Amino acid sequence: MKLGRGAAMIAALFLTLGCSAATQSRETTSAAMTSDSRLPRTRAERTNYAETSHYADVLAFLDSLQALGAPFWRGSIGKTTEGRELPLVVLSRPRVSSPEEAKRLGRPIVYVQGNIHAGEVEGKEALLMLIRDLSFARGPGILDSVVLLAQPIYNADGNERFASQEKNRRSQNGPEMVGTRANAQGFDLNRDYIKVEAPETRASLAAFNEWQPDVFVDLHTTDGSYHGYALTYSPSLNPAAFFGGVYARDSLLPVLRQRMRDRHGFEIFDYGNFQDEYGRGDLTDTVKTGWYTYEPYPRYGTNYFGLRGRISILSEAFSHDPFERRVKSTYAFVREILSLTAERAAEIRALERRADSSIVAWGKDPRHARPIPLRSRMTTQPLEEEVVYEDLVRTGDSSRTQPGVPRGIRRTGHYRSAKMKVYDRFEPTLERRPPAAYVLRAGDTVAVRLLREHGVEVRRVDANRDARVQVFTIDSVVAAQRPFQGHREVRLEGKWNERGLAIAAGSWLVPVAQPMGVIAFYMLEPESDDGLVAWNFFDSELTVGKEYPVSRVMDAMP
Ligand SMILES: [Zn+2]
Repeated sequence: MKLGRGAAMIAALFLTLGCSAATQSRETTSAAMTSDSRLPRTRAERTNYAETSHYADVLAFLDSLQALGAPFWRGSIGKTTEGRELPLVVLSRPRVSSPEEAKRLGRPIVYVQGNIHAGEVEGKEALLMLIRDLSFARGPGILDSVVLLAQPIYNADGNERFASQEKNRRSQNGPEMVGTRANAQGFDLNRDYIKVEAPETRASLAAFNEWQPDVFVDLHTTDGSYHGYALTYSPSLNPAAFFGGVYARDSLLPVLRQRMRDRHGFEIFDYGNFQDEYGRGDLTDTVKTGWYTYEPYPRYGTNYFGLRGRISILSEAFSHDPFERRVKSTYAFVREILSLTAERAAEIRALERRADSSIVAWGKDPRHARPIPLRSRMTTQPLEEEVVYEDLVRTGDSSRTQPGVPRGIRRTGHYRSAKMKVYDRFEPTLERRPPAAYVLRAGDTVAVRLLREHGVEVRRVDANRDARVQVFTIDSVVAAQRPFQGHREVRLEGKWNERGLAIAAGSWLVPVAQPMGVIAFYMLEPESDDGLVAWNFFDSELTVGKEYPVSRVMDAMP
């Protein structure tokens, strides 16, 4: 799925012989999939999981469901770089066809996205099957309690760039032909949620703003360690996701883990990789000292969604499982998320009200606001937990034993567990109190447009006025050595001080007291690890010894 901490995250594997701990999940029951043979089947099902759906297959499959009277509404969130419509399927009983109607039902709205990395194909297949099965399920069911927004083929352009998995998805156990990770512009869409350079991301944010989902689920495949789990998961990892992040981590995911085991026979665990200090030559090393999650930056979709004060869940099917099993574990996981969300609807509502009213209160009274994290590091107090891993052996030659497993290495099917430190969360290293509002110069229209794409309310100052502001004097501007996604990320250091400012008519004002206040804060603070500074939006306005172009208004705004 991601290689947040460097491409060497192939992770250490084990050489241990003669062990037989059968900790692999018991697949007693697969997800309750339909067996009605009159209903259309996905390309994956039709080919016995030898192939995954093309874009045309996805549209044809949805067409065929509709021809049979499937009671969903079908729209589009927008178009890809190459002009493909991005289908959105909305399922609920009664059927709704607009955000207003969905809101009127008063039920949780769950947005599930497949295929952001188009080589990771089971999310797309699982979602198509789920759309079918929910549409034609008899009797009362989950669609009476939630609204499901399904986006099965988010990186549709990448999906169509079929090539062998050896090329597009090196560490994956089939299918043989899959799409690319990047979109048609070459961007990783799961690094684009702050800077929004892809039309797909713009479409996705517009859908978030319009439908206001309560829960966002992003479906991926791992590409690292040989662990013993059918699927790994993560909440928003950003410490500024005070509400949805913590609630998902501590209250939803442990229950989902239990239900996946009890109801489906799938063992699941927190997303992570074994310590990656070993290179490829050490694949069979027996030293494992820790289990590490990925980065906390909101450039990743599920981290980002937590900063909107809502719940998000990253789903990562195990790449070394056969394609069919990955589809089934993903399918079961999404179903369980839907039903748990329905059960917890009132609690989730209350949590959202707290998230929204807190940022509004902080923006109205910034001197008493809670500091919000802007930079963080992996926890220094990890819990010790049992983590399951698989034993691997060297074959003694250069044969390929399974697609996605390096030559000369063989999986044994022997699983063991070891107690190790689990680094599944981050702690803040820098926090700042949010102001009442930010002031941007009249010419910073690119930043303003971006803020608005995020659903942040930005006002134009219509007359000259004076205000007490905090300004940030820049001590250093450091650009990353290596380019990343076409950028050299910038980090600022400096000092805050307070002074009077004549705000000119035509400037822009961004109040913090709004539901997207944390997003505005994270994007505009000069010291943010993933804001507009990092992504070069202010490069031409950054000079050592001068002031950062965005100031903070500390008094409540009229
Ligand atoms: Zn991925």
